[in-house]
Amino acid sequence: MEEVMLEKSYSPREVEDRWYAYWQNKGLFRACDTSDKAPYCIVIPPPNVTGILHMGHALNNTLQDIMIRYKRMKGFNVLWMPGTDHAGIATQNVVEQELAKQGIGRHDIGREQFIERVWQWREKYGGIILNQLQKLGCSCDWSRERFTMDEGLSRAVREVFVQLYEEGFIYQGDYIVNWCPRCQTALSDLEVEYEETQSHLWYVSYPLINGEGGVIVATTRPETMLGDTAVAVNPDDERYTRIVGAQVLLPLVNKKIPVIADEYVSKDFGTGAVKITPACDPNDFLIAGRHELDIVRIMDGNAIINENGGVYRGQDRDTCRKNVIADLKAGGYLVREEPYVHNIGHCYRCKTIVEPSVSKQWFVKVKPLAREAITAVVKGRTRIIPKSWESTYFEWLENIRDTRMVLRRVRQGHCITYRSHVMPGLRRYITATG
Ligand SMILES: [Zn+2]
Repeated sequence: MEEVMLEKSYSPREVEDRWYAYWQNKGLFRACDTSDKAPYCIVIPPPNVTGILHMGHALNNTLQDIMIRYKRMKGFNVLWMPGTDHAGIATQNVVEQELAKQGIGRHDIGREQFIERVWQWREKYGGIILNQLQKLGCSCDWSRERFTMDEGLSRAVREVFVQLYEEGFIYQGDYIVNWCPRCQTALSDLEVEYEETQSHLWYVSYPLINGEGGVIVATTRPETMLGDTAVAVNPDDERYTRIVGAQVLLPLVNKKIPVIADEYVSKDFGTGAVKITPACDPNDFLIAGRHELDIVRIMDGNAIINENGGVYRGQDRDTCRKNVIADLKAGGYLVREEPYVHNIGHCYRCKTIVEPSVSKQWFVKVKPLAREAITAVVKGRTRIIPKSWESTYFEWLENIRDTRMVLRRVRQGHCITYRSHVMPGLRRYITATG
């Protein structure tokens, strides 16, 4: 028998690379197209090509590897399908940051050149991530590796998109989104970071059209008043009962808007009366839906005041705020100004202040899909472990709302992420990339 000297301590350097190369050279991770064994397949949740993997990747890929190796040893024809970059936007962002260091913007170099840069980035850094997965020992079938912008995937996404559209599963509608004026993209709620900020609360008087005096509203964003379409109070607030249904004059814009009553308004905030700007605030957008108010967009995608902003047209939101405050003061509409601390949403990627914005968005009609998913569990085709989570699953799917698609144009194709409304404690993606 051969004598083996064991090292005092385990040295991964001696062991891991050697065995990984052995597995690879023997083709042990390869799935077989023609095998008659039962198939077992996992498609890797593709990590973004943004640099390096994190602890979460180490965990979820280890779990996948355990299942994959177990099934392989049980005699299944196993495919663990590897790929990188599930949504494109995170990678787009790091490439933009690289360009910014040279003082270049995405629009300066144009679409074709930008895509070229993304590919260069992926050539350079995609390899790091794949190496890290291999360091973890992940037994993916590397001969099949794919990337979001591969020709085949782009075509597949376009195909699925058109098919879903033709079948009526996707449609366009107005929706208020968290918009990053710098990234020029909509952000999901989870991509907005709130930061406590020292600001002001401005009290502005909106004169009653018929009658004495006016209603004083408190706001943290006076510039948005250009898009106001109502003033709202709480229906139980006796201070205002007599003026619900009346009209007030929107200062600076000189437009008549109604006073409405809605449960959403807190009697304790400011004066108990708030301005409603449906195009600039998610709650106001919902109120507008309930009361059939007009939705007036006052900013473009760069957070610059548009043609609805009258004399403020062309100003950025900060300049506009200064000017609106000065004009309110000059017109005698500004009642007072007090210090106020509140949370302001920032883009998680570039830290720019998020601008809630109404725009045409793509939605996925999810009810018919949810019905199928419910049936699968009811009929036992899909099992949820532990069973006690079934009720949470049913409740989530029975109350699910149509899902907005975060859609970004990449190359000739699209990159689509469907984000479901979040089930408590669970974030789910079904991702098609291209
Ligand atoms: Zn941003």
